Amino acid sequence: MPIYEYRCGACGHEMEVMQKMSDEPLKDCPVCKESRLKKLISATGFRLKGKGWYETDFKNSKKSSGSSSSGKSGGGCGGGSCGCAS
Ligand SMILES: [Zn+2]
Repeated sequence: MPIYEYRCGACGHEMEVMQKMSDEPLKDCPVCKESRLKKLISATGFRLKGKGWYETDFKNSKKSSGSSSSGKSGGGCGGGSCGCAS
């Protein structure tokens, strides 16, 4: 979801809002209650394109799942339903 930046034309308040593309742009400033919010085209929304977003923790996220030595010892079925156990 893209992040939009708004600035209030009345009090200068700035904020970032995560919105769907289909959402209506905000108008009402939460600070001064004026309907003077203006959507800014800022670098914030394009941060996805740059680097730094994807390479956060992916390097260390490889799970070392090789240590699971096949569960039960003995090898028999043990359940008695297949007939291989004595
Ligand atoms: Zn305001």
